[in-house]
Amino acid sequence: MARIVMKFGGTSVADMDRIRVVARHVKREVDAGHEVAVVVSAMSGKTNELVGWTRDASPMHDAREYDAVVASGEQVTSGLVAIALQHLGINARSWQGWQIPIKTDNAHGAARILEINGDEIIRRMGEGQVAVVAGFQGLGPDNRISTLGRGGSDTSAVAIAAAVKADRCDIYTDVDGVYTTDPRIVPKARRLKKIAFEEMLEMASLGAKVLQVRSVELAMVFKVRTFVRSSFEDPDAPGMGDLLNPPGTLICDEEEIVEQEVVTGIAYAKDEAQISLRRLSDRPGVSAAIFGPLAENHINVDMIVQNISEDGSTTDMTFTVPSGDVDKALKVLGDHKEQIGYDVIQNESGLVKVSVIGIGMRSHAGVAASAFRALAEKGINIKAITTSEIKISILIDGPYAELAVRTLHSCYGLDKS
Ligand code: ASP
Ligand code: MG
Repeated sequence: MARIVMKFGGTSVADMDRIRVVARHVKREVDAGHEVAVVVSAMSGKTNELVGWTRDASPMHDAREYDAVVASGEQVTSGLVAIALQHLGINARSWQGWQIPIKTDNAHGAARILEINGDEIIRRMGEGQVAVVAGFQGLGPDNRISTLGRGGSDTSAVAIAAAVKADRCDIYTDVDGVYTTDPRIVPKARRLKKIAFEEMLEMASLGAKVLQVRSVELAMVFKVRTFVRSSFEDPDAPGMGDLLNPPGTLICDEEEIVEQEVVTGIAYAKDEAQISLRRLSDRPGVSAAIFGPLAENHINVDMIVQNISEDGSTTDMTFTVPSGDVDKALKVLGDHKEQIGYDVIQNESGLVKVSVIGIGMRSHAGVAASAFRALAEKGINIKAITTSEIKISILIDGPYAELAVRTLHSCYGLDKS
């Protein structure tokens, strides 16, 4: 017997036929003797529609009322899934965020979960009742419904799994796992059996849109073994109910990964822009003078490269921001020209950041050198490089993105099965 949280995303509950498939997936686990809590998203497209209505009502709407509106999508699916389960003879009930309660902070529209008391759900699971929890929503300190930001039901699922001390959190979605890279670019990309929390965090932050980034952070902190799998498989297909080795990708502690490869995956992020400040005065406080105002204006800066100055008087600073933020960033930097003290600003949009990720890098030399060599052989120019213990990120011109991803994917032997 195990305790499992099963999360179903929007495409998995898109209509009543899909909801009936969800109920069969749940029934399979219940029949196998497991204790089950289910977390659901809204039907696909529903949240967009609800968001659209709030904007239509008023572009400057009250965020608390926005939450009251957009949380309703999950309320509907939680009830429908509970009914579908009851129809199959399973003891089930729906739970809204405020009923558990899933306590969040006051940041309506992008709230963070603070606390969940899982006792009542645990008690009822012990009695054989399936809890069907509305994802994406919670209860703020102002006693009003809050929502967790788009894609937040992944985070709800991982948080519920931590609160009820589940053995595993299964994320049922429209893909069957996490791949070594985007299979649309590299058809030979392989589904990973396992990936470490840290690696998944990098992959998710870099645009592998399988899970909300916040959910991976939570899974890492609370060590929730999180399993990404497809809800489009036949619920009763062989292996689907296999507790130890089901089809999909397990996101887990690195200690659980025995055959660690040096490189696990290649991720990429499009629409990056580069901004360079030339002939900056090289003095204490200059970085603070640049990045302070950018942060105050909510501009997310990513790669930062500063040159060592030749003569101790001036230096160059280059950094990246999302392409959509360039104009705003240039305006902020222009407004602070006096305080910062630079000669000229240059910028370039339409760049791509390609990243090589793997915890095996910590103990292997030469990983970066192989990437640089492989890209050079293809004539791809590198504009900037940053590294961390488990990641090398390379900024290149947009049109080379696919070639670079393919080149790096085969360079580290990820093509072979
Ligand atoms: N329904 C919400 C959204 O579309 C939450 C989720 O699906 O995770 O963002
Ligand atoms: Mg989602």
